[in-house]
Amino acid sequence: MEIINIANSFYTNYILRFGKDVILVDCGNNISLDKVKKKLAKYDISLDDIKAVILTHVHADHVSYMEDLLNTISPKIIVGKEAVELLQKGEDQFYSFTSPGNRKLTYFFAKLRGGHPAQWHPFDISKFNPVIVEKEDDETLKEYGIKLIPLPGHTQDSIGFMVGNDFVAGDAIMNSVPAKHLLPLLIYSAKDFKDSYNKLIEINADKYYVGHGGPVTVEDLKANLKFAMEVEEF
Ligand SMILES: [Zn+2]
Repeated sequence: MEIINIANSFYTNYILRFGKDVILVDCGNNISLDKVKKKLAKYDISLDDIKAVILTHVHADHVSYMEDLLNTISPKIIVGKEAVELLQKGEDQFYSFTSPGNRKLTYFFAKLRGGHPAQWHPFDISKFNPVIVEKEDDETLKEYGIKLIPLPGHTQDSIGFMVGNDFVAGDAIMNSVPAKHLLPLLIYSAKDFKDSYNKLIEINADKYYVGHGGPVTVEDLKANLKFAMEVEEF
């Protein structure tokens, strides 16, 4: 199994390669399906090789070509709890920057502009029969040895998964500027975020691939635990 990032160091978009089969993690930021096709071609991968799509969470920077992709091929789709509703609304579950004051400001300015802080063209994913991960699940992608795990906190629909000895964590942790101490920039529930952070340490993976920035280790997570536990509820 090989993990390849087809995006860049700020917005990761992983493909997991199992011989001829490919699993796609998220659907990129502001990129068309045509461009993605060209990127995949460089690895000798065609859209039909994609057997499953795992959406780590519904934020605009992770879903950009998802609807077009699902209208083109029919992979297994795996999402977290609440993801279907969020995609239908076309809204990010976007409640706060890591500090509560910033959350108030975000909503204040969004209201002035007449809407929700982050909206996009909504789409109905329910017609594609997604698998919804509500608890640990090692059945859905058993043939690839993948164990899906809910990781609420950054958003309530956040999920990650174990593959081999590695873990793919979405934005439950963030490893690129301007994020500090591996904290995601946005938090929906501080309590859930802390529980998920502890869960990540307990998992004790060799490497954690994250939604933004390069992979981190369990030692990195432990070194920043103190900061994670200081995140406040709004
Ligand atoms: Zn993100």
